[in-house]
Amino acid sequence: MNYYSLRRQSPAVDFRTAAITGQAPDGGLYFPDAIPQFSSKLLGEMRQMSRTDVAVEVMRPYVGSSIPENELRRICAETVGFDFPLVAVGPGITALELFHGPTLAFKDVGARFMSRCLGYFARQGSTPPVTVLVATSGDTGGAVASGFLGVEGVEVVILYPSGKVSPVQELQLTTLGQNITALEVSGTFDDCQALVKQAFLDGELARHRFLTSANSINVARWLPQQLYYCFAWQQWPDADAPPVVAVPSGNFGNLCAGLLVQASGLPLGHFIAACNANDPVPAYLRSGHYEARPAVPTISNAMDVGNPSNFIRIQELFMQDISQLRAALSTDTVSDADTTATIARVWAEHRYLLDPHGAVAYTALQRYLEQQPAAPGLFLATAHPVKFPEVVEQLIGQPIPVPESVQHLQGRAKRSVPLPVDYEALKAFLLAEQR
Ligand SMILES: *Cc1c(COP(=O)(O)O)cnc(C)c1O
Repeated sequence: MNYYSLRRQSPAVDFRTAAITGQAPDGGLYFPDAIPQFSSKLLGEMRQMSRTDVAVEVMRPYVGSSIPENELRRICAETVGFDFPLVAVGPGITALELFHGPTLAFKDVGARFMSRCLGYFARQGSTPPVTVLVATSGDTGGAVASGFLGVEGVEVVILYPSGKVSPVQELQLTTLGQNITALEVSGTFDDCQALVKQAFLDGELARHRFLTSANSINVARWLPQQLYYCFAWQQWPDADAPPVVAVPSGNFGNLCAGLLVQASGLPLGHFIAACNANDPVPAYLRSGHYEARPAVPTISNAMDVGNPSNFIRIQELFMQDISQLRAALSTDTVSDADTTATIARVWAEHRYLLDPHGAVAYTALQRYLEQQPAAPGLFLATAHPVKFPEVVEQLIGQPIPVPESVQHLQGRAKRSVPLPVDYEALKAFLLAEQR
């Protein structure tokens, strides 16, 4: 399998190069040059296979000869070594809980897979020491920090907006140490993002440090997200009635992975892209005109994206044909008011606690099912509610117990490096930190 740039101005590369560089030299996103087709044998057996076996089967064609089979198996086992339960919530509505990983975020899977691939390439001596540079509004940073912790040959530098991440998120970013450094920026997430983007464009910095990103632009983070849908399928009670799937979407990496694995033959029904007020994709499917916009802040802040980077991959998958896309995908825009109303109602009626992102998906799914009452519905619960206590606790009138997986972080010393919103300060830091 090779990967071509969606701008088509750079040569195609193998998995290794795509994973190490993140983006093509022409600035395009990498896209697989073939979509593997699941054999009927694999589909027949998938529901009985172990998660690791499923992961190896799904990822092998994408990884190709870049990683030998035994290494891939180890990487997959380390990537999917926690639960992905289906939980019945209300009539006809089931949650796929993706928040049982080490940082309680669905991004754990992609971050762990990518980190272990880069770790393998570094051990082969085939890459210079890599610095992963990321900006986070909270969730990505924790998953990346945990995923890369202790990986030899990889330094991680995370920029986060001071005072704008939740207490659990800040613990996850700032208490790990080792190869993880948190830069606490006196600004907003957009400021962090702008600083990171500038660093990637800085040729002088590139001569001193090999920088790469760890967002879903990177194929090693994007592609393993297909596995969630396989794990849902393994547990889905009725193999003859695949679910409608609602995906809370920001950068559209997760949704694109679902559409991709469906194209490989995984039996899934219609997809719903559930967005908050940041909804250029729903607007596009209505009007046929795509327009990026500045992001607006919402309570589902990991989805506050005004120009989703992976949407271009979805268009490629559907061969730029909007009518095919409309047939496969519905979209919905869910306001903060509707999101909080859903959290309160689902708690009152079903004693199920949604986080704001899962609640956006739940709301969109429920609205869709009002039109299609016969279809069984699945939504992706992408984060644990404890990460958004300021929203959730006042709605349910009680504190959320901190899960065991983050309890060990409590009481640990916070270590962060303060950084002004000033590119020269970031550059000086990156040039000085030579390890
Ligand atoms: C990142 C994130 C999303 C959005 O996923 P995309 O792949 O960017 O669309 C949704 N929910 C949570 C909790 C997230 O962290």
